[in-house]
Amino acid sequence: MTKTILITGGSRGIGRATAVLFARKGWNVAISFVGNQESADQTCAMCERAGFTGNAFARKCDVRDENSVADFFAAAHERFGPLDGVVNNAGIVAPKSSLADMDIDRMKAVFDTNVLGAYLVAREAARMLSSGGALVNVSSVAAKLGSPDEYVDYAGSKGAVDTLTIGLAKELGPKGVRVNAVRPGIIDTEIHASVGRPERVKELGPACALGRPGAADEVAQSIYWLISDDASYVTGSILDVSGGR
Ligand code: NDP
Repeated sequence: MTKTILITGGSRGIGRATAVLFARKGWNVAISFVGNQESADQTCAMCERAGFTGNAFARKCDVRDENSVADFFAAAHERFGPLDGVVNNAGIVAPKSSLADMDIDRMKAVFDTNVLGAYLVAREAARMLSSGGALVNVSSVAAKLGSPDEYVDYAGSKGAVDTLTIGLAKELGPKGVRVNAVRPGIIDTEIHASVGRPERVKELGPACALGRPGAADEVAQSIYWLISDDASYVTGSILDVSGGR
């Protein structure tokens, strides 16, 4: 039977690469976007071009809104039946700043999306996934580096995602549901340009053991492995996908 993956933030970047990879592996794919419908439709078209045998659909979902999250999960369930995996990927960063200079609106925006949003998506996953299912949260190496003079709010928000991963793995383990996280390093996506720092990929990419930035597809591969049955004894793990950053 065709398996189904639900991915938040599948319109661009790591979410898109993950959607296309699962499609290539023959899964049904449900992705969300918050503003970029055209881009989300392109992801669905890319899934189809990947020669897959399942189906893809995109739906608007703001992870900060519990009803919106519930509606997205319900729509995916209605379309494809029970979910086999969830990728808690949607996230934002804000412009470079020291903590002393950060205003509260920016900090609230980061925490609302990356913490509240991640918890709401994980809560819905906890309700909908059954034995054999798996959740992957997308954290960041920032959670262990702290991102001083850059994004300490973002780093803290991803620290919360790591803690969520550990706690929820223990809650859902007895149900047969696995929960893990990936911590990407510097990955070449639009997120850096979204805060006016496209140069960050070239500048910081080499500052890791492998000496280069990562591609979204390289993160997608790790997410796929963690969701797949090949990782059947892996839960509560946080996997750095950072080139050794
Ligand atoms: P992008 O900026 O390329 O994509 C972000 C995605 O999240 C988009 O699909 C966007 O939708 C969606 N999104 C943003 N806000 C919301 C919201 N409120 N509700 C629902 N969806 C939303 O980012 P990346 O692909 O680079 O990042 C994906 C994840 O990886 C994030 O959690 C990020 O923190 C993490 N990460 C990325 C790293 C990197 O270097 N790229 C490094 C470490 C972690 P839309 O297109 O509609 O705006």
